Amino acid sequence: SATIFSAIDMAPRDPILGITEAFNADTNPAKINLGVGVYYDDNGKVPLLACVRKAEELLMEQPAPRTYLPIEGLAAYDAAVQELVFGAGSAIIQEKRAVTVQAIGGTGALKIGADFLQRFAPGSSVYISDPSWENHRALFESAGFTVNTYRYYDAATRGVDFDGMLADLKAMPKGAIVLLHACCHNPTGADITPAQWDEVIAAIGAGALIPFLDMAYQGFGTGIAEDGAVVGKFAAAGGPLLISNSFSKSFSLYGERVGALSVVGASAEEAARLLSQLKRVVRTNYSNPPVHGGKVVALALTTPELRQLWEDELAGMRVRIKEMRNTFVQKLKEKAPAHDFEFVREQVGMFSYSGLTRQQVERLRTEHSIYAVDTGRICVAALNSKNIDRVIDAIAKVL
Ligand code: PLP
Repeated sequence: SATIFSAIDMAPRDPILGITEAFNADTNPAKINLGVGVYYDDNGKVPLLACVRKAEELLMEQPAPRTYLPIEGLAAYDAAVQELVFGAGSAIIQEKRAVTVQAIGGTGALKIGADFLQRFAPGSSVYISDPSWENHRALFESAGFTVNTYRYYDAATRGVDFDGMLADLKAMPKGAIVLLHACCHNPTGADITPAQWDEVIAAIGAGALIPFLDMAYQGFGTGIAEDGAVVGKFAAAGGPLLISNSFSKSFSLYGERVGALSVVGASAEEAARLLSQLKRVVRTNYSNPPVHGGKVVALALTTPELRQLWEDELAGMRVRIKEMRNTFVQKLKEKAPAHDFEFVREQVGMFSYSGLTRQQVERLRTEHSIYAVDTGRICVAALNSKNIDRVIDAIAKVL
C-alpha cells in the first residue's frame, strides 16, 4: 500500500558524478577522465602526502582515546587555520576579531556559514559568480536563500568580464551576500588581479554587502601567502567577513573532511558573540567535528619539519599543474596551429574552461574515451606525462 514515500521522485543526478559513472562503465583500457575534481600525480593517482604520513606516524606513537572534540573543533587546528588564512601575526588575530570553527570540509564550512547567515540576515539574497562551483547554488538554496548570479566569465575573451562583475556588484541591494572564490576559480580557472580585487572590496564596502570568501585551493595559484593575501585585504577593509577554507585538495585529504569557517567581527567582544552562535549552528547539525583529519593538519601546520614538507609538496602539485598547462598549450600549437589555446597558460588552479563545446566534449567521450564536463571544463591535474599526447591528438581531431 502507498506510503508518504511512494510518491517521491528520483532526484536529478549529479552531473560530475554522472561522468564518473560513464567513465567507470567504459571498457576501453586507454580511457582518460578529465572530468574529476581532484589532484592526480604524474602516475594518475591521488597522492598520500609524506607530511600526512609522517603526522600520522607521530600520532600513532601516542595513541589517544577518541573523545568528543569541542563544538568548534580542535583549538590547535582552529588557531593554525587562522594563521594560514589571515597570515601569521595579522592584526585580526591579535585583536581576536576572528573566530574559527573546524568544519566537515569546505562544503561543511559553507553550510555552517549559510545557516548562520540565514539566522541573522534572513532577508538577504545570495549572489554567486556565473558560473560557479555547482554546489554553491544548491547549498545556499537549501539554507533558505534566493540565489542570484553576478557576471563573471566572458567566453569571448576567455577571461573575467570585470566591468560586468563590478557593475553587478554596484547594483546589488544593500546587505546582499556575495560569494567570491578567493583564488583558483572553479570551474573557469580565471581569476581577477590584485588591483581588481581592490575595486571589488571598495564596491562591497560602498554597498554594505556581506562578502563570503570560498578558499578551496589556497596554494594552487601563486603560493600559500599570495593566494591568501586577498583575505587580508578584505579583513583590512573592515566590515563583516566570512571565509570557508578546505584542506581537501591542499593536503590531499578529501575523505577526512577537513575544512573551517572563519568569521570576522568588529571587536573581540563581537567575535565572542559570533562564536557562541556558530557553535549553536554546529551543535544542531552534527554536534562536533571528527578528530583525525584535524589532528593531522594541525600537527603538519605547526611542526616546523612537517610544515616545510607540506609547503614543498604543495609547491610540487602547483608546479606540476603549471607544467601541464604549458605542455598542453605547446603541443596543441603543433597539432592544431589554427587554434589559439594560449589562455590556458594564464588560467590558475586545477581547472580550465578549455573552450571545447558540448559537441566536442561528446565526441571526445564517444570517439576517444576521454571524459570532460559538458561545459568544457577539464581538470588540468588529471593530465600527466603519459596521457597528454593521447589527449592532444584527440582534441586536435575534434576541433
Ligand atoms: N568550494 C569550491 C570552490 C570547491 O571547488 C570545492 C570542492 O571541489 C569545495 C568548496 C568543497 O570542498 P570540500 O571537498 O572540502 O568539501
